[in-house]
Amino acid sequence: MAKVVTYQRGLWEQLYLPELVRGMSVSLRHFLLNTVLRPWKNEICTIRYPEETRVYPERFRGVHRLMKREDGSVRCVACMMCSTACPANCIHIDSGERDDAGIEKYPVKFDIDELVCISCGMCVEACPCDAIRMDTGLHMPPGELRYEFYLDKETLLSLGKRGIAKQGGAGPDWREDYKEIKNTRAIYDREGKKYSKLKGS
Ligand code: SF4
Ligand code: SF4
Repeated sequence: MAKVVTYQRGLWEQLYLPELVRGMSVSLRHFLLNTVLRPWKNEICTIRYPEETRVYPERFRGVHRLMKREDGSVRCVACMMCSTACPANCIHIDSGERDDAGIEKYPVKFDIDELVCISCGMCVEACPCDAIRMDTGLHMPPGELRYEFYLDKETLLSLGKRGIAKQGGAGPDWREDYKEIKNTRAIYDREGKKYSKLKGS
């Protein structure tokens, strides 16, 4: 049987207005401290995102990237495993045929709607050839238009590197570049609406 707990409010709280004034005075005190009285202490809790960002946890995945083969072509074989596994249905792939007899298909179009993505990582787990990864550590930057949250194949490939995993199975040190991408600072080019990488800046 549920135990009913009643919250005892005093007369002062029930009057409402005094509590409202108390709350406003706290806000006003913080405003004056941070703007007039001691702004040099920089005690403001908010940050100027996206120009400033917090340090993300080590296990933060970040936006996707597509890995490449030795010749620079996309590793993805358009098997649709990722889009099938995706619970948010935010991966959209159009496949095309390759001339290479050993690799039947490649993605003509590969879009991920990052606004719908729930960052579950199921797509990465489902991929049989280390073609898609979520190890960039980059948060999707803010945008003003809906289409800005679609990462297309070119953008995903611009974040990718050559993958050394065996197709269909992980080889040794298959994430050898993990630390390198983590140390790469990426910025969002507001004009081009694309990610670009600036190493060490
Ligand atoms: S992380 Fe999850 S929701 Fe996002 S694209 Fe991959 S499978 Fe879909
Ligand atoms: S699971 Fe991997 S190979 Fe298959 S379509 Fe997705 S990214 Fe491409």
